[in-house]
Amino acid sequence: MFGDIPVEISPMYEGERIRAANMFVELAGPKSVGAELVLVSDDVEDGKIEVIGPELKDMEEGKKYPFGILMEVSGEKLEKDLEGVIERRIHEICNYVQGFMHLNQRDKIWCRIGKDSHAKGFELKHLGQALSTLFKDEFPIIEAISITIFTEEEKVKEFVEKAVSEYQARDSKARDLSEEDVDVFYGCIMCQSFAPTHVCIITPDRPALCGGINWFDCRAAAKIDPEGPIFEIPKGDLLDPVSGEYTTLNATVADKSQSTFDKVYLHSIFGHPHTSCGCFEAVAFYIPEVDGIGIVHRDFKGDTPMGIPFSAMAGQCSGGKQVEGFAGLCVEYMRSPKFLQADGGYERIVWLPKEIKEKVLESIPEELRDKIATEEDVSSIHNLKKFLNEKDHPVLKRIAELDAPFEEQVVETEAEPAGEFVQFAQIPEMAIPTSGGIKIILKNAKIYAEKIIIKKK
Ligand code: SF4
Repeated sequence: MFGDIPVEISPMYEGERIRAANMFVELAGPKSVGAELVLVSDDVEDGKIEVIGPELKDMEEGKKYPFGILMEVSGEKLEKDLEGVIERRIHEICNYVQGFMHLNQRDKIWCRIGKDSHAKGFELKHLGQALSTLFKDEFPIIEAISITIFTEEEKVKEFVEKAVSEYQARDSKARDLSEEDVDVFYGCIMCQSFAPTHVCIITPDRPALCGGINWFDCRAAAKIDPEGPIFEIPKGDLLDPVSGEYTTLNATVADKSQSTFDKVYLHSIFGHPHTSCGCFEAVAFYIPEVDGIGIVHRDFKGDTPMGIPFSAMAGQCSGGKQVEGFAGLCVEYMRSPKFLQADGGYERIVWLPKEIKEKVLESIPEELRDKIATEEDVSSIHNLKKFLNEKDHPVLKRIAELDAPFEEQVVETEAEPAGEFVQFAQIPEMAIPTSGGIKIILKNAKIYAEKIIIKKK
């Protein structure tokens, strides 16, 4: 099948990481430019593979190069709505190629070629051949496929511009639709290969957290492959219109997470937030000191006011977990009127990187726009508190309410864990994040663990 490609092609290479020491070159990524795009077209020259710009043999070891992948596909049953779904598989299928690492999606792709594969004679045209064969195999409705790989800087820049306008057109299509207008939602378990309990719920208001798949894309994908990783979920009974809790979504999450979780709230980061895989475009995180929420995206390289960067934030909640006070999300969700509505929506957002704030500015209520801090306004929790006070941010009202005397209910507990557990901490007082005007304070909390791992840097 892949006779003339000098490296192996197999799903067993998915998850292969190429560290800087083993890297021949880096393609696209945060320090360069790149994108991937699938277009359904009537006029496709089947089997055509073209590399525009330097091939790997003309590149210098250790350097970074611009990189774009354009896949044009045609077929009688192919619809434009399938472009996003086919495109989302580029990540997985590229990673079948031994010595080729692909991360992220759309114009955030970040790839590396391993030194060993380069030494075996692997070239970008071989990547094109592998994609061409594997995509036809995975999607029998693709009758013709042509691949163009760009590495010449100017061509890549032009291509990225075109790709971004295609993404915007796809994203805006779902904006006029809301959860009330449809009878079905969709689920996606494509990321279970590395996050086994993760299931994305995609509604018109909440596109997939990778940002690559919206409700229309799912509708087209589920129609052509009902047994595939994207499936239909009847809407079921609405249990809570504010948090976005539905009977059928709870059942789906329980089923697809192998009973790890039994509930999901679409529009909250508290209680039962959406699971997070690792592909999310951004993370929403609770800031207990101001009872507000911050959002940081993958491209933001600095520290959040919490003193940690996106990568550390992502580490807290990825892998298919539901973590109270954290949720992976896509930037497009921030344009939905239901955006974190159970937590207060934009009235609860206190910090955003400037780049994201500018992208979603139109969706932020006008009176809140200058009350939400960015990295240009604050760099620490202390400064954030000052900023929110100066701007009279609505969270101040929440803080005042929370600071008001609470009607206290004390629950005494004496339980000790069953089994072989070790007590490794005792904390005199600890507040845990909650919503809905409730404060939970643990007094004299004892923390037990089944195993304690001590790692030295
Ligand atoms: S992030 Fe969600 S929608 Fe996107 S590929 Fe993964 S499981 Fe599917």
